[in-house]
Amino acid sequence: MTEYVSGRHFLQTPGPTNIPERVLRAMDRNAINHRGPEFGALGLEIIGKLRQVFQTSGIVGMFPSSGTGAWESALVNTLSPGDRVLIGRTGQFAHLWEQMAKKMGMDVVALDTDWRRGSDPAAIGAVLKDDREHRIKAVCVVHSETSTSCMTDVAAVRAAIDAAGHPALLMVDAISSLACADYKHDAWGVDVTIAGSQKGLMVPPGLSFVAISDKALAASEASKSQRSYWDWAPLVASNKTGFFPYTPAVNLLFALREALNMLLEEGLSNVYARHERYAEATRRTVRAWGLELQCEDPSAYNPGVTAIRVPDGHNADNLRNIILAKFNMALGNGLGPIEGKVFRIGHMGDLSPLQLTGTLTGVEMGLRIAGIPHKSGGVQAAIEYLSGNA
Ligand code: PLP
Repeated sequence: MTEYVSGRHFLQTPGPTNIPERVLRAMDRNAINHRGPEFGALGLEIIGKLRQVFQTSGIVGMFPSSGTGAWESALVNTLSPGDRVLIGRTGQFAHLWEQMAKKMGMDVVALDTDWRRGSDPAAIGAVLKDDREHRIKAVCVVHSETSTSCMTDVAAVRAAIDAAGHPALLMVDAISSLACADYKHDAWGVDVTIAGSQKGLMVPPGLSFVAISDKALAASEASKSQRSYWDWAPLVASNKTGFFPYTPAVNLLFALREALNMLLEEGLSNVYARHERYAEATRRTVRAWGLELQCEDPSAYNPGVTAIRVPDGHNADNLRNIILAKFNMALGNGLGPIEGKVFRIGHMGDLSPLQLTGTLTGVEMGLRIAGIPHKSGGVQAAIEYLSGNA
């Protein structure tokens, strides 16, 4: 029998994230006619607010799907089978996107990392310079590689593409960075940005988003890939009317409107600063424990998630299982080759300093019970930092 643990469940995975009460209340209502005027106004309001978060004045499309669907829409609209794609294989999510591109008949060139840093813009630039015939049609990178907690510098990737004088599209997975870290779709010259509802946007899983540049839109008109549900043409129409070509996830959209209102009321720069503060508090705690961060490059540290390595001979999943059973807290697991070696603390979305210190306390108690060697005083480091005394 599992032990009863009183109190609220701590959902500290890097998505889905905690849903604010305001958002829960906003979606707790009857649906509305998705062909009626109230819905059109809702759709247009949401698109306008999403544009502020993506920092774009262009098309922002929404699908009732998980983020994986938006990945597929990016590939199937802009590319044709046989097209060459360059992917920065920074972790499990880049790997899955790469696998999808292969299944769709694309010729994928992957640039490996050791999963402890972001994509290397110089390496991307070098491959593009060698591609004199411009066979590479798109460069795909994951802004926040949730599996490793390493960021890729998107502006630097754009600069490398431009320095190589290469016409490839730049496609960015911002699923776990949007609304956690500053993101500039237009200013960074991104052609397709992909996002999902269940992370920084603080909405339940089930919505995905694509921000699309004019260049990507033109590519979608030329693409020979077969598509129907994922086709972008109806999204372009939706951006003018607010309506969907099928039944949208109406109540998730009520939730999204409220979440966007919350983000814009707090101010996006404050939202990003809050995430940075929590991430720094978490890293200080990890260092004080004497444990190792998965991300080895400080310039690639992630504001929304921290992946932590357990010492050799110990199992991170055992630690997570203890923490779930004893303290009713869910943490992210290690994925792919780092399964069992890494656990991940999600500190993105709706989170207070007390929830963060509670989370870190739960991990510290779990480390003790699991017999994982660590120094005490980790949570103290977070308390000192968050109370301004560090
Ligand atoms: N890309 C990244 C960076 C992710 O973190 C995730 C999910 O965690 C995905 C893609 C896949 O998104 P979904 O699970 O919503 O399909």
